[in-house]
Amino acid sequence: MLVIDRRPHVAGNAYDHLDGAGVRVHRYGPHVFHTNSRDVFDYLGRFTAWRPYQHRVLTSVGGQLLPLPINLDTVNRLYGTDLTTPELEQRFAALAVARDPVRTAEDAIVSKVGHDLYELFFRNYTRKQWGLDPSELDASVTARVPIRTDRDDRYFTDTYQAMPRDGYTAMFERMLDHPNIEVRLGTDYHEVAGRVDHGALIYTGPIDEFFEHRFGRLPYRSLRFHHATLDRARYQPTAVVNYPNQHDYTRITEFKWLTGQEHPRTSIAYEYPCADGEPYYPVPNPASAALYQRYRALADATPGVHFVGRLATYRYYNMDQVVAQALTLYTRILQHPSAGEAARL
Ligand code: UDP
Repeated sequence: MLVIDRRPHVAGNAYDHLDGAGVRVHRYGPHVFHTNSRDVFDYLGRFTAWRPYQHRVLTSVGGQLLPLPINLDTVNRLYGTDLTTPELEQRFAALAVARDPVRTAEDAIVSKVGHDLYELFFRNYTRKQWGLDPSELDASVTARVPIRTDRDDRYFTDTYQAMPRDGYTAMFERMLDHPNIEVRLGTDYHEVAGRVDHGALIYTGPIDEFFEHRFGRLPYRSLRFHHATLDRARYQPTAVVNYPNQHDYTRITEFKWLTGQEHPRTSIAYEYPCADGEPYYPVPNPASAALYQRYRALADATPGVHFVGRLATYRYYNMDQVVAQALTLYTRILQHPSAGEAARL
């Protein structure tokens, strides 16, 4: 196995490291592991011990920090009410705007809670995050964030929620630590393509880049991070605080909540979405899906190359979904190796 990465480190965007103050930070923004798949959890568990962690997010709305996803407490604190769960269900039913079909990221929210909460919590955040109005994005984007009528304030409800105890980088280093695996960093795919004799190729970069943008560029949303270390032990009451309606950044992450590290100082990162830069997010909407399908057809007609991951399959996948995709591919290759692969198995 030869693994190449154009960056100077392993672990991709999940890369974490100790910053100048010795605080562990995620260089490319918060990565919070959660999955319902026992297989995925157990597979990664071969390379790391876990630290149980339930992610919580607050969002800055109306001068308060309110729980997100929207839940019973969010609404009661926002409006100074004392609604019960059945009363909130009734209120949402009354406020909901019928959308049939639920097609866009706007539909996904207004069809559940109506316009006011949509405007306060989702519209501007989404415009900042994507540079598009929610009406220009697929419903799946905002449907990632549930709407609740109980008091559950966890961001995720998956069966397995935990962080790699020694960080993601250590987990990937253990995964790659094998006599049959060679890792070459600072190496771009296009530098070695055609120069390295290989059987099967697993490609995880942007699919349009692999095909030299033959049909034009697929849109990817990028992020810029401003990292800072503060001379205090804590900065904010949860790992992530969202800012839907103020500032150019979307959210601030305080990493010690994620890692459990004890340290007299604390490090935070402001997240500024932008159009240019490293690709982070595929943009889920009909135009990009149509363009992706053209690249996908090329990929299907390219024997011996397997496309895996968020960038290569142009899907807004979470980490566990990428791991599941990779394990599925692994099983498929084992069962149906192509000629080149079979020679090496
Ligand atoms: N979102 C929003 N307001 C928020 C949080 C999320 O409008 O306070 C929308 C936004 O469009 C975002 C999407 O929901 O891109 C998915 O949010 P998630 O937290 O899953 O984004 P990620 O952590 O993947 O950047």
